[in-house]
Amino acid sequence: MIKKDHGLAAPQGMNYLQFRTSFSVQIVSLLFLCLCIGCQDSNSSNYRTEEPHSSNRDARESLIINDNERSFDAAITLSPEELKLEQSLFDLRHQYDSIIQRNNLPFYNKPFHDIKSFIDTTVLYNVFKSMPKGGLLHAHSGGITDINWLIDEAKAMPECYVFTNPDNGTYIFGQLGVFKEGTAPLGFISLKEKIKSDPNFETVLYDLLVLKKEALSPDLDYWSEFEKRFMRIGALISYRPFFKSYYKKSFSDLLKDNIKHLEIRYIFGGLYDFENEEYSNETIISDLNEVLAEIHEIEPDFTLSLIYTSFKFLSEQDINNALKEAFRLKKIYPDLIRGFDLVAEEDRGNPIAFYDSNWESLEALNAELDMDLALYLHAGESNSNKNTNVYDAVLLDSKRIGHGLNLVFYPELIKTVIEKDILIEISPISNQLLGYVPDLRTHPGRLLLKNGVQAAISSDDPSVFGYQGVTYDFWMVFVAWELDLKAVKKLVFNSIKYASLNELMKQKALQTLEKDWKHFVSTTNAMFASYER
Ligand SMILES: [Zn+2]
Repeated sequence: MIKKDHGLAAPQGMNYLQFRTSFSVQIVSLLFLCLCIGCQDSNSSNYRTEEPHSSNRDARESLIINDNERSFDAAITLSPEELKLEQSLFDLRHQYDSIIQRNNLPFYNKPFHDIKSFIDTTVLYNVFKSMPKGGLLHAHSGGITDINWLIDEAKAMPECYVFTNPDNGTYIFGQLGVFKEGTAPLGFISLKEKIKSDPNFETVLYDLLVLKKEALSPDLDYWSEFEKRFMRIGALISYRPFFKSYYKKSFSDLLKDNIKHLEIRYIFGGLYDFENEEYSNETIISDLNEVLAEIHEIEPDFTLSLIYTSFKFLSEQDINNALKEAFRLKKIYPDLIRGFDLVAEEDRGNPIAFYDSNWESLEALNAELDMDLALYLHAGESNSNKNTNVYDAVLLDSKRIGHGLNLVFYPELIKTVIEKDILIEISPISNQLLGYVPDLRTHPGRLLLKNGVQAAISSDDPSVFGYQGVTYDFWMVFVAWELDLKAVKKLVFNSIKYASLNELMKQKALQTLEKDWKHFVSTTNAMFASYER
């Protein structure tokens, strides 16, 4: 039995020095950034000041201690039972790593879908599936429900049609529509009939609704392909008879993934049926509350927060209207409407600073109405240092930041993020599939955690990426970032600690998570013990 995973096993045919050299080259940029930040902080009172070291060994030891004290999970101490579980997880990871090294597999820089079938066969997948994961803090209304289920439901609906002509400026190939009999525009045919006459179309449609990097030409713009996935299902999920079952399926699947709290970046408006072209936002909320009531019959502890979301490509006037509506709803549903955000491809949309007048009016409205509509801004979903949205998000006191990938370019800002205790919502698979971080070993989140930035793991739009929940994201970071259980536990508990729940609900959710976590540790240890018998 392997007793300790240092994550430094040398591949066959390579001695330790050679391996260290190659490993160093791969992560040299990360280490460089670490050192830069470290140098600037060397006089900080947070760090040990010691007498000159008698040898390099002492100096080395001291540097390692200081680095560990800086880490985001430094406050966590594992119990003997948790340490036992950690060793079992290290053993599993070492086994996978040995297979990867022995067969020289290009595992870590493979797109998620190329390795998903391998992940599905692993014990580690089952362990992370059963792990209580607290809250999913970063998910979008159009990206959280199983696409296979969606197609099954849609093809059973006589009013559901699909556009089968090439994109024409109004509709795109594979776009779903809901129409009364005889009213479907030219190019739409009944989905049921289409699949009946061409059974392979179901697979074609699935591939049009899920973003699989390997299925797309490298010449295609991933973001435009990504957005087409939402456009294709938009009319279906806003159709009121489908709307409730869409969310019920989503919440049920999250429960199966051991997620008990969900925060949706929610784009309001557009709910319709054949009787009413557009229902009010109150109707949307009342329908969602009905779904929640049904879910509470299965799991009374499940909670939901909505972050009112608009778009980075809209005008200041549009955002002003969106803010007014967000405040209006927040006043009626204070425990459901929790914050405000803007989305769309960041490097192409307006910068956060473009909306400065809107942020001023948000502050004024919060003060005037004695409310706390907080910001939960997407920022730094970019590889460019021309994108400085993270500065604005931090200065605007965004409670959390969605993605924050290019925060690593700004060491001084990292210190402010830590001081202000802003959480970064990291969605590793989303970042890989949208082309920001092809190899997850060099994901900026890994560096941020080591520097003491708090984070939680999310999945952004899991259904568009071909899965539900957040288990795969935990699997990927545990393996690629060589995490220990202390780090995993901190990521899980952060998802409730930094949730937008009110204090009472948060304390209750934390108590539930503590209980669930203890149960998970003991049952998983028992499972590993049964393997050894
Ligand atoms: Zn997002």
